[in-house]
Amino acid sequence: MKILVVNAGSSSLKYQLIDMQNEKVLAKGGCERIGIDGSFLKAKGNGEEKIYQKELPNHKVAIELVLHALQDEGVGVIKSMDEIGAVGHRVVASGEFFKKTTLVTPDVLKTLEETFELAPLHNPAAATGVKACMEVMPKTPMALVFDTSFHATMPEKAYLYGIDYDDYKKYGVRKYGAHGTSHKFVSAEAAKYLGKKPEQLKIVTCHLGNGSSITAVDGGKCVDTSMGFTPLAGVLMGTRSGDIDASAVEFLARKKGLSHSEAITYLNKKCGVAGISGVSSDFRDLEAGFERGDERCALALEMFSYQTKKFVGAYAAAMGGLDCIVFTAGIGENTPIVREGVCAGLEFLGVEFDKEANKKKNDGSIRELSAKGSKVKVLIIPTNEELVIARETAELL
Ligand code: ADP
Repeated sequence: MKILVVNAGSSSLKYQLIDMQNEKVLAKGGCERIGIDGSFLKAKGNGEEKIYQKELPNHKVAIELVLHALQDEGVGVIKSMDEIGAVGHRVVASGEFFKKTTLVTPDVLKTLEETFELAPLHNPAAATGVKACMEVMPKTPMALVFDTSFHATMPEKAYLYGIDYDDYKKYGVRKYGAHGTSHKFVSAEAAKYLGKKPEQLKIVTCHLGNGSSITAVDGGKCVDTSMGFTPLAGVLMGTRSGDIDASAVEFLARKKGLSHSEAITYLNKKCGVAGISGVSSDFRDLEAGFERGDERCALALEMFSYQTKKFVGAYAAAMGGLDCIVFTAGIGENTPIVREGVCAGLEFLGVEFDKEANKKKNDGSIRELSAKGSKVKVLIIPTNEELVIARETAELL
């Protein structure tokens, strides 16, 4: 079966067509600037790339164009739309409304609307993407695959905040986590690579990208994660502050004359390593700054590594042991200085880090960064969220 994976944003729609027989990506691409002037689709297939400059007033027109590209000369990889067995849609937040991958029905779409306030930038866009696909492919089954599902196994003690329990029940304010498909994929790949069953392993997965989250995976299940009610929590990120005392937020808002929502926008967009360095949210720029002796770039890198390390230590304690640390996503796969900073000083946990192996350039393969004989294995595992979405969709069917 061929599965179309769709990741719809407010003005974008990314896709991959995956053949589940061999899990190969047949085609991929994305529409950008949907509803804005200058919209286009960049499509890849058969080793070719084609840009379609076309007005895309909404997601329905965008998905129609994607389906056209999938059957077009050159980049096309299918003869008819009927070859697409199902569509898997990425959805950022599920709240407590969905615990697992769910087949789309009219009732499910209604429930999905209840999640909008949990991820106002992402979930309404995902719903728009689902509706657009349903209009264009009315007979094709659709699945919602949630970034949060992998975290549904967290125990209450891990996901609750220290607030009035009745308020948690009434409003659903608790930790939900993020990047679940990535944490699920790399922890399963780690077990495969180590030749062990997931049940035998205690793993800390570090998904370090523009958004970063760290997860404790005990016996193949998530038992804790660093992101919270929203993806603002945990370590400081590109532009997000990460964890901060709630009173400091009120204090800052008062001093800067910001409303509640402006204060949250400030914490999401103006803080993190961009705020600390005053240079950039991009770790390539921070590394360059560090090389030329910029102290605040060095500080931003140090804070990021230190905060990530603290989650590794905390989760080793939470699980009562540690067998493996996994690095993944843009920074996890490409930024040696961060990986070294995270692993430095963890010898007491049984981590023996191979600095030379760490320096090698990313070649897209799984790489081992722990020295021979290290009790704790340290791995780089390239993430593949689309494949997880396709697998979950296929399993559901
Ligand atoms: P997201 O998916 O959350 O937008 P990514 O996982 O793509 O983020 O990570 C993006 C970050 O990874 C960039 O901001 C950059 O700081 C860092 N990075 C460092 N080196 C590279 C590289 N060679 N390629 C891509 N990203 C890199």
